[in-house]
Amino acid sequence: MRTMNLLADIRELLLPRVCPVCGKLLMAGEDVLCAFCAIGLPRCRVVSIEDNQLLRMIWDKADVRKGTTFLSYNHYSPYHNLIIDIKFHGRSDLAVTLGNWAAAEAEKQGFWKSVDALVPVPLTRWRRWRRGYNQAEMLAKGMSEVTGLPVLNLLKRTKNRTPQSRLKGEARKKNAEGIYSASVPNEWCGKTFVLVDDVMTTGATLAACANALQRADKDATICIFPLAYAG
Ligand SMILES: [Zn+2]
Repeated sequence: MRTMNLLADIRELLLPRVCPVCGKLLMAGEDVLCAFCAIGLPRCRVVSIEDNQLLRMIWDKADVRKGTTFLSYNHYSPYHNLIIDIKFHGRSDLAVTLGNWAAAEAEKQGFWKSVDALVPVPLTRWRRWRRGYNQAEMLAKGMSEVTGLPVLNLLKRTKNRTPQSRLKGEARKKNAEGIYSASVPNEWCGKTFVLVDDVMTTGATLAACANALQRADKDATICIFPLAYAG
C-alpha cells in the first residue's frame, strides 16, 4: 500500500493532474475536476424524461420513447474542454467518470426503469482505431458501472462521410441516414435500449441510430441519453 502511495506521489510530481475545465492543478481528494468546476457543472435538467426539448427535436425523425441528458453544451464555455478531452485528447477515463455522474443523475429521474441495455453510437473503424477508443462506448461503460446494465455494440457505422460537426440542419439529417446499420441477436429482440452519445445537436445522429436499430428489430424500444445537449 505504502509503495502504491509512493508511486502515486512520484507520478503526481512528474505528471501533475490538472482540471480539464480551468487548467488549475488538482488537489489531493479532487477526482477529475477541481472542486470549484465540479460545483459549477452546467447541468441540463429535463422537466420530464418522456417529453422534453431533446425528444421534440428528434420525434419528427425517429420513434424514441424517452430521453435525458446531463450537461448543457455551450461551445464558448470552458466546460466545452470536457468534450474536447474525451474526443481528441485520449481522456477515456474522463468519459467513464462523466458516464458515472450522468447515470447517477438519471437514476434520480427514474430513467433506468425498464431499460435493458446501453448501446453506444459507433465511430467508423478507422476513427475508432486512430482514437484508440470510442468515447460514446466509454460513456456507456461509466453508465454501466452505476446501473449494472450491459453495453451492447449493436450498431455499425458503415460509411465514412462528412463529419456531422461540419454540417447544419437538413444536411446533417441526410448525411446521417444510411450511415448506420444494426444487428440485434435474437435474445435481445423486443428489448428497451438506451442510445448513448457525447453531444446531441439536431438529433440527426441519434435518430439515424434509432432508425437503424428499429430496422434490425421492429419491436425494439429506443431511448436516448447524450451526455450533453446543445440546445
Ligand atoms: Zn477547475
